[in-house]
Amino acid sequence: MTSYIDAPSPNFDARRAPPDMLVLHYTGMQTGEAALARLRDPEAKVSAHYLVEEDGRVFQLVPEERRAWHAGRGVWQGEDDCNAASIGIEIVNPGHEFGYRAFPEAQIAAVIALISDIRSRWTIADNRIIAHSDLAPDRKEDPGELFPWKRLAEAGHGLWFEPAAERVQALGGLLQKGDQGIGPMVLSAGLHRLGYGLKASGDYDAAVETAVRAFQRHWRPARIDGVADGETRARLVGLLQIASAESVTGFLN
Ligand SMILES: [Zn+2]
Repeated sequence: MTSYIDAPSPNFDARRAPPDMLVLHYTGMQTGEAALARLRDPEAKVSAHYLVEEDGRVFQLVPEERRAWHAGRGVWQGEDDCNAASIGIEIVNPGHEFGYRAFPEAQIAAVIALISDIRSRWTIADNRIIAHSDLAPDRKEDPGELFPWKRLAEAGHGLWFEPAAERVQALGGLLQKGDQGIGPMVLSAGLHRLGYGLKASGDYDAAVETAVRAFQRHWRPARIDGVADGETRARLVGLLQIASAESVTGFLN
């Protein structure tokens, strides 16, 4: 195991099962030092397994075998105790509230190396490497649209898909809040299948819009408006195909 800077936090409890999910966050505070202090403060009752500074230093706060307190209320692929299922990584960035900015190269390289290291110890599928905003789309935006998910996938971690132009064209126009029928039904069923905690519904209601916005923040960062254009839907379909191919491969192995 790679060695990390020891910075123990008291904010954890016991796991019931080995972790099989990874949740990425940004710290959303003005400095990394302030975030590290808060994640180690017994009064705050929050933590994560790791914190990655902008210069690439990695702090370990909670042993991977323990349940850290980073995810809160939320659902992914039917799992509603995401802290119990996951390893949490806090990535230092002021976030949307305090001056959201690009993640430096040294920090991203450190995140990728950390994820490789974690996955050498635990079985974590690509479709279970997610943003905090994926499991809690109604209340979280982190790590946000500047996080380089494509780069992460190119390094072998997580899902990414970019459709051909013809495929986007074939899917046609916009689906948006207020729409009803088969379009919203297929869209919401697809989001649910990928992992989002919404029910399939023929109504493009606020819950669908919120999930679409979270999906876009992760997988279609050029458009984050909750409107499912052809590109958004084509990316969702492509990701579902990759994810199901991966689960078949996992089954055969
Ligand atoms: Zn978070």
